[in-house]
Amino acid sequence: MPMNEPVLTKRIPSAPWGDPKDRRTIDIGEYVRTGGYQSLEKALASKPGEIVDEVKAAVLRGRGGAGFPAGLKWSFLPDPDGGRRYLAINCDEAEPGTFKDRLLCDFDPHLVLEGIAIACYACQLDTAYFFIRGEYHHQAKVMQRAIEEAYAHGIFGQQGLLKGKSDFKVECYLHRGAGAYICGEETGLLEAVEGKRGWPRIKPPFPAVKGLFGRPTIVNNVETLAAVVPIIEHGVEWWKGHGCESATGGPPSYGTKLMGVSGHVERPGVYECDLGIPLRELVETHCGGMRKGKKFKGAIAGGVSMGVLGPDQFDAPMDFDIGRFDVLGLGTACPTIFDEDTDMVAVARNISRFFKNESCGQCTPCREGSGWILKLLMRIERGAGTTKDLDLLLEVAGSMGLTPGTTICGLADGNNWAVRTIVNKYRGEFEARVKPQFIPVTITAGG
Ligand code: SF4
Repeated sequence: MPMNEPVLTKRIPSAPWGDPKDRRTIDIGEYVRTGGYQSLEKALASKPGEIVDEVKAAVLRGRGGAGFPAGLKWSFLPDPDGGRRYLAINCDEAEPGTFKDRLLCDFDPHLVLEGIAIACYACQLDTAYFFIRGEYHHQAKVMQRAIEEAYAHGIFGQQGLLKGKSDFKVECYLHRGAGAYICGEETGLLEAVEGKRGWPRIKPPFPAVKGLFGRPTIVNNVETLAAVVPIIEHGVEWWKGHGCESATGGPPSYGTKLMGVSGHVERPGVYECDLGIPLRELVETHCGGMRKGKKFKGAIAGGVSMGVLGPDQFDAPMDFDIGRFDVLGLGTACPTIFDEDTDMVAVARNISRFFKNESCGQCTPCREGSGWILKLLMRIERGAGTTKDLDLLLEVAGSMGLTPGTTICGLADGNNWAVRTIVNKYRGEFEARVKPQFIPVTITAGG
């Protein structure tokens, strides 16, 4: 298995270890000089359906959290009927611990735009909305400038898709969010682009059938679209040479992945690695090891919603089968590492506060449950909880989310998994903070 060949970061100077100050945004001149937009030219020489089939064959799994195969998602679109069809690019990246799409926006925005142009051509989508989280001020400016360069270079607009090489035309717009995490949920994002409050929609209908403005829409993550470019450039077999097969008989985890590592390591940052790299290797080889030589205590798998890997799960491979280690999934593959001094009760309380604040409030189990969870955790943290509170905590957490079927979107599952995995894997730490439950004794006369 070829290990850690830079693919998405190949143009980013010094990636991944260099001083970020040495890096600069690659403009369209440099991008084209180094082979940029050749994958788009290659794609335009094929029929759109052939590109969809290639991405399907590559089993490119979504890099935004769910891991759903992008080519399969593209194939759900109905045939063009002459009306508008949209691509919505998810650059909301608002989950604590996740910061990998920002790297591409900062330094190689045209890689992302080339992926967008290829996806639009393949799926015959005439309008792309690049939705970027409100806090990404700098990245929004960089992407806007790159979009303008792409218009001038004949990628987008009525003179676009490389000026006359295709009759198909694509418009591309940047849309800034207003700071709500829930807009990273695909239908919340669609509502936000439509100018409404970012409330997730009940599915079905799915966006491929009825998305933006009621029209067929594909929602893809930034890194997913960037990965389309090397797939078209080098072919499916080359892509499959990176990553790994499934350990559980499920879909494989092909390709490289941007992994944003934070927490108690010597060199936090974004590292591009083949999927399947053991977490221990990622930390010890790429991140310089645990900070100050401390012991590994656990890690958030990839964005706080995925739950926590325990102290004996340091060797878990970072692939889409990581759920077998009792976490929700790989998520964005951006682990947060905890050393031996970490207070896991405080970690659970901190994560729960985030989800309580970000619940959009539509579903009662999420709106009310997230508040109860936070109150229980605060009580336990200050030493005022009882053993009964621990069981109640698990009961409340386990009753909210798509998994138990009680909510519209997966935000509640994130809260659910984060809390349950931390309590289950560090139960002793919680029990040490609570008092035994008081059991009233009834004394009867003569008894
Ligand atoms: Fe809103 Fe929570 Fe329901 Fe998602 S699960 S729609 S965030 S209330």
